[in-house]
Amino acid sequence: EAVIVAKDVHKWYASNKFHVLRGVSLTVNKGEVVVVMGPSGSGKSTFIRTFNALEDYQKGTITIDGIELSHDLKNIDAIRREVGMVFQQFNLFPHLSVLQNVTLAPIWVRRKKKAEAEAIAMQLLEKVGILEQAKKFPGQLSGGQQQRVAIARALAMQPKIMLFDEPTSALDPEMVREVLDTMRSLAKEGMTMVCVTHEVGFAREVADRVVLMADGLLVEEATPKEFFNNP
Ligand code: ADP
Ligand code: ADP
Repeated sequence: EAVIVAKDVHKWYASNKFHVLRGVSLTVNKGEVVVVMGPSGSGKSTFIRTFNALEDYQKGTITIDGIELSHDLKNIDAIRREVGMVFQQFNLFPHLSVLQNVTLAPIWVRRKKKAEAEAIAMQLLEKVGILEQAKKFPGQLSGGQQQRVAIARALAMQPKIMLFDEPTSALDPEMVREVLDTMRSLAKEGMTMVCVTHEVGFAREVADRVVLMADGLLVEEATPKEFFNNP
């Protein structure tokens, strides 16, 4: 069952005539983990950000769990309910506690009761190993812990798909593993994931498929085994 179907997606910037996506197609099936690799500036981030309408595009079609993304943003709420996202910078609200960061959207967007939202948040914080820090503020946490809070926050909206945009790039090396372990267990639970990352170990062990982007094109698509044995 295909949950992400991107067909011939093009995006360019009129200002400098820069063609950042030059006809990219990708299908991701339910439960699949796809790792997107490629040089800086090749369009990886732009491409995955089109999946939840953080980036518009000029040509092509994108369907998320059967809902077509329209340029008039008609389906944007429905799409964003399906797609959780974790960024390189954790983007937590610094003046809210960890728990409040995780319950904010469920309460204000999903209209969940506070008690229910907190119960779910506590489960998620336990799952990502941050339960003890629930009352702390983001600034009191390590980068790795903050990123795990960001993952819990995205999961609190019960998305069907999780997008990761270089989630470990801003972290000190000793914190990378705890974030990758969290992503690994999500993958094991059957979450559909698209991850832009340079973490080869993660790609080797966890990805069902690795796709390589270069200059706004998807130039290779292979299993990790094929991909990494292929010089
Ligand atoms: P990657 O994730 O592979 O590093 P990106 O998707 O971030 O690549 O690539 C974005 C490319 O598009 C960069 O080369 C950037 O300079 C260019 N770009 C981003 N925003 C704009 C803009 N508003 N106008 C022109 N070029 C842009
Ligand atoms: P990242 O690679 O971290 O995703 P980018 O460097 O692509 O970020 O873009 C950061 C911001 O700068 C975006 O808002 C993008 O639109 C803008 N930007 C990037 N490159 C250009 C450019 N060449 N001209 C105008 N705006 C740009």
